[in-house]
This record gives sequence, C-alpha cells and structure tokens, in this order.
Amino acid sequence: MFSAQSKEGRLICLADGYRADELKRMRERHTFYCPACHHKLDLKIGAKKLHHFAHKPGSACPVPHEPESLYHLKGKRLLYEWLGGQGLRPELEPYLRTIRQRPDLLVNSGTLKMAVEFQCANLNLKEYQKRTAGFLKLGIEPLWIVGGNRLKRSAGCFFQLSGFHWQFSMRNEKLPKLLFFCPDQKAFLVLEHLIPFLTNKTSASARYLPLQQTKWHDLTSSKSRSSYQLDAWKRNLLKFRTTPSRFLSKESKQIAALFYERFQIPLPFFPSEVFLPVPSGYIFAHPVYVWQGHLYLYLTTRSSFHMQSAVLYMDKLVQSKKLKLRRNQRETVVNAVCEYIQFLHEKGFLKKEEEVYYPAGPIFLKPRLAELLKRDERYFSE
Ligand SMILES: [Zn+2]
Repeated sequence: MFSAQSKEGRLICLADGYRADELKRMRERHTFYCPACHHKLDLKIGAKKLHHFAHKPGSACPVPHEPESLYHLKGKRLLYEWLGGQGLRPELEPYLRTIRQRPDLLVNSGTLKMAVEFQCANLNLKEYQKRTAGFLKLGIEPLWIVGGNRLKRSAGCFFQLSGFHWQFSMRNEKLPKLLFFCPDQKAFLVLEHLIPFLTNKTSASARYLPLQQTKWHDLTSSKSRSSYQLDAWKRNLLKFRTTPSRFLSKESKQIAALFYERFQIPLPFFPSEVFLPVPSGYIFAHPVYVWQGHLYLYLTTRSSFHMQSAVLYMDKLVQSKKLKLRRNQRETVVNAVCEYIQFLHEKGFLKKEEEVYYPAGPIFLKPRLAELLKRDERYFSE
C-alpha cells in the first residue's frame, strides 16, 4: 500500500512523488503505522517495485493485505493519477473505520460517491459480497475493476470467464458487464453483451480504451453489440460441429442422451435452435445447448404451449437441480426463456396465435452437416 501514518497521525502518501533518497532519510527518522490496525509498517524503497508500505509478516489487520504485486501497485497508482487528472480528487486507500474497509480509491465528488477496487488477487464470493455490502451501507457505490492479468482470451470474441469474473459482473446493470485494467498496457478493456457458449467460454463485445483518451463516464456507459460478435459466434459453432468435444459435463451428457433417444443425433449435429445467442442466457451456468436443449425438447413435444408454461417447466428443472444458475435470479430466467421463444418466433420456427405458440412445421432432425450449416447461416446473420 501507498499510505501510512506517522507517530503524530500525519498521513504519508507515497503516490505523491517522493524520491528514494528522501524516503531513506524519512525511514531513518520516523516510524510508520497502518491507519487501520496501527501496527508498525515497513517502508520498502524499491528499485524494481514501486515504493510502498507493507505489514510485518503475520500481523493481524482488519483489512486484508495479501502481499501486493507490482502489477497491483502500478495499476492503483495509474488509476489514482487518472482520476485526479479529471478533477475528481480521489483519495488513495482511505480507511473507512465504521466498515473496517480500505478501498483502493475513493471518489467523493458532488453526487458521485464511488469506491474503486482494483482486484488482481483471488477473491471469493463471500468476501466480495461482504465488501460490496459494506460500501453500500455508507451510500458508496463500488466499482470493481479486474486486473487485466486475470483475463484469458480464447479466440476472436471469446473469453475464459470463471465464477471469479462473473461475481463482478452483475450489479445494478440490466445486463452483465466486466471492466478490466492493465497497467502495463495503460488501458481499460470493457466486456459487454456476455453470452456463454460453453461454461467457461463466453462471447463478448470488447472495447479497448487507452487510459489517456478515456474519461470516467466512458467506463460506465454502454455500447450496442458489435456485428463481429455474431459472426464469431457462427464460426465458433462451425468449429464445435466439426471438432470432437474433449470434455463433457454431466449435464451435457444428459442432454446428449435425451436428444439421441428422441432424434438419434449426436451432439455435433444438434439443431441451430439450441445455439441462440440470447442476452439473458448467461444466467444458466451451462453450455448454451444444455438449457436451450431442454426448452427445445419441451416445445417440440407439444402441439402448442403458453410462454408461462415454458417458464414453469424451466423453473422445475432449476428446483430439481437439473439446471444450475450463476445467480439466484428468477427474473432473469424468465427473461432468458422469453428471449429464446421470441427469437424462434422471429425466425419462423414457431408460430403464434393469440397467446399460444406452436411449431411452424414438423420436426425432422437429420445428421447432415451441409444442411445444418445453411441453417446456422440463416440464424446467425444480421
Ligand atoms: Zn493494518
């Protein structure tokens, strides 16, 4: 960390630009204390690492203080300077006594009350929720920025997102969104329109924002889906159909067995209708063809159905734990089912009279790749 207190209670902030020789003299004359736990701190004057304070090994502090990486220190400092450059007068590592938390940065400017956490280390869901609730209790909106070193790109518009990422993506926003910052590249990366294809392979529209050219509100604004994303989705589906899957989850095997029993087709020949990129589909912690596969079987075994009964059917699968959710949000499940059925209606697969939906024609599924690809083209082009 960059901040410490002197014996007299004066706050010393290393991000304010001290020289190494100044700090060496200060270290000889003064003792530094943690503003949270008041234990003595070591002042590390680094040639490689940025100058920083550190707790002595094994000290008990109410604020978690995993050893800070250079990456974290650099990022925190750049963000501090960046916010300051926009006249937002950020505070670096202020200790908020009532909630015993110390955010990386705090912006308190007019109506804007925001804690910025630059998260580079692991953080479990419980700790994330505790910290978020702490800020909200004080009327402070938390903004979680994930370290760019925590992001892996698979290919094109696809990213490997785990539970660690998803936990940061779903506050207050109608649709999930993730914010990354890389101090080495001095740039943000905003991921929006997150649509999982496989459990750990998610399609997204990515925006690369160099720090120098980015304003605070650019981070919180939203952009529409890039056309490139749908194109990448189609190419990814082609790859899925033509290369064997190495690993299948229990739920994937179950849906594969159900389709084989009903239509005698294997997974790579599943119909285009179970790969629809719908905005709320992220709520299901499964490959897209698992949850849509269940819905597809439901609506093709009935001569007609109401939207409401399709929702209830999915509710039952969730309650019986056949389907797992990323977050317990029934509202989003309802949205996902409605978006799915509306998509099929728009593409002419379903017809609708009054409030009743029914398949537009008889369902034949044949394991012919050329036909499937033609159909994919029709479904996944703008
Ligand atoms: Zn401490």
